[in-house]
Amino acid sequence: MNSDPVPRVVIIGAGAAGLATAIFAAQHARQARTPLSVILVDGADHIGRKILIAGGGRCNVTNAQATPADFNGTQTVIRNVLRTFDEKAAWAWFESIGVALKIEDTGKVFPKSDKAMSVLTALIDRMRALGITLRTGARVRSIQRRDSGGFTLGYEGGAGPDDAREADFVVLATGGKTVPSTGSDGAGFALAQALGHSLVRSSQALVPLLLADQFFHAKVSGVSHEATITTRVAGKVLDRRSGSLLWTHFGLSGPLALDASRHLTTARDAGLDATMELSALPDTTFEQADAWLESLAQQRPRALVTSAIGEKLPQSVADTLINHALTPDGRVLTLARMSRDQRRALAHALTALPLPVTGPRGWNYGEVTAGGVPLAEIDWRTMASRPAPGLYLVGEILDCDGRIGGFNFQWAWATGFIAGRALAQQATQAAQASLPRAAHTA
Ligand SMILES: Cc1cc2nc3c(=O)[nH]c(=O)nc-3n(C[C@H](O)[C@H](O)[C@H](O)COP(=O)(O)OP(=O)(O)OC[C@H]3O[C@@H](n4cnc5c(N)ncnc54)[C@H](O)[C@@H]3O)c2cc1C
Repeated sequence: MNSDPVPRVVIIGAGAAGLATAIFAAQHARQARTPLSVILVDGADHIGRKILIAGGGRCNVTNAQATPADFNGTQTVIRNVLRTFDEKAAWAWFESIGVALKIEDTGKVFPKSDKAMSVLTALIDRMRALGITLRTGARVRSIQRRDSGGFTLGYEGGAGPDDAREADFVVLATGGKTVPSTGSDGAGFALAQALGHSLVRSSQALVPLLLADQFFHAKVSGVSHEATITTRVAGKVLDRRSGSLLWTHFGLSGPLALDASRHLTTARDAGLDATMELSALPDTTFEQADAWLESLAQQRPRALVTSAIGEKLPQSVADTLINHALTPDGRVLTLARMSRDQRRALAHALTALPLPVTGPRGWNYGEVTAGGVPLAEIDWRTMASRPAPGLYLVGEILDCDGRIGGFNFQWAWATGFIAGRALAQQATQAAQASLPRAAHTA
């Protein structure tokens, strides 16, 4: 047990969720006049790397409206977490620590400065003002729960910081597995497992998708347009969504492909046969596209097929799709000379084009991890672990992933708020009851 008379919480991971937990724990303890020692440890030498690279260096901190439907995971738990600390609470909190925010047309919320550094600096300043201790270069290798209560932490390469080897409470804020060079390499999953948690398999999410080399994507690299992607497993529709698609030299990116990716990766990682299909004409069925082409042929028989399709799509995409669907090259065809079979082949390519996805681009390119510690194994009122009293889990380590738009940070702030408040309450209750601190009631 921690030999210090002041209860001690060690938070492992000083990313978005760990920083929020530390700040809210220290703030609530201060308001309740309860002594609480809050120590943040991180394996990285420089903290907040994901905050700095987020949103193209601008950090999309939340969204104008965050609903459970914006997340994948147990909806009832997510609803309760968001109700406790919603996007308006996140906005007010940032303004209170000196980060002025703005909403863009997409609903994404950014700092007015357009600089992620202003977000990280404000969090670090607040952390310092509250007297929170930060230990960097301290990578936790093991956590042992003592029978008598409390935890003993083991560190890679040595004993670790003097003040962070023993704790009354431990918070796992170690993130997921994407961009491991930031320090988030999935090590926290094994720590959670060793303390009695199960894990939902991790898959890359919000990740660009690779297409087979022989496909046409490289010809339209850099072009974006509205589209619909349908993901099927064994023929059944698993997900269908519309948005902005970006063609790249390796395959697909842009919000649409990123948001759709987790449905393919989670299914394929589970050994299922998942496929994707593209409609370059969102909300248009094959029958509607076929009827549209037929009526165009009657109205403008001498118009080129390429001109007609080019009115709906960027010309390079229109030409590439026509070329893909029709042989010999249909771009020189007039609408009147297009045969029924050609028309149907083109309508099919426009609305139900099979995408030869070979896989996700890789952990270095994904923005978030699908899977993690099941939400059923934590109490959403406190973010306390059910199998390991005294342990709390926050942020991306949990089995919840949001779509593009600031939702993953919203999850980090919200879970951090809940855990921080609960830790301060635990410390206050223990102090009032003069109970042994480590007799956890979680
Ligand atoms: C390129 C990119 C852009 C993104 N853009 C956005 C965006 O604009 N908006 C948005 O909402 N989301 C965005 N995300 C997702 C968002 O960054 C994450 O969901 C969020 O940072 C998760 O916060 P976290 O605190 O749970 O984990 P992390 O931020 O990953 O922090 C985990 C910390 O734990 C430390 N750690 C891990 N293991 C150990 C250990 N064993 N011992 C000690 N320390 C350890 C790591 O060093 C790290 O500092 C983006 C992600 C990426 C990769």
